[in-house]
Amino acid sequence: MVKVAASGTYDAGEGSRLPAGEVHAWEPGQNQTACGVPLRRAGLGRFPHVDFSDTDPVTGGSADAVRWVCPKCVAATTPRRQRTGRRWERTDPRP
Ligand SMILES: [Zn+2]
Repeated sequence: MVKVAASGTYDAGEGSRLPAGEVHAWEPGQNQTACGVPLRRAGLGRFPHVDFSDTDPVTGGSADAVRWVCPKCVAATTPRRQRTGRRWERTDPRP
């Protein structure tokens, strides 16, 4: 399951820590986000207890303090449901 790396932390009380600010997808064990940003250099905190899908501002349950979700990470972690089988190709071949 893909977890979360974020630029900030939101204290939800009772020791519960939620991601805040800018959010990226992150897999535990990796030292960079799904879109290739190094966690340490970018100052991103790790949230191994928060699923990336929960940070969606519309549907997520952990998105109260999320201000921005990285579109590259969304694309990298979204199943290919939007690709309807046919690969994108140039209509005119290169010379
Ligand atoms: Zn990202």
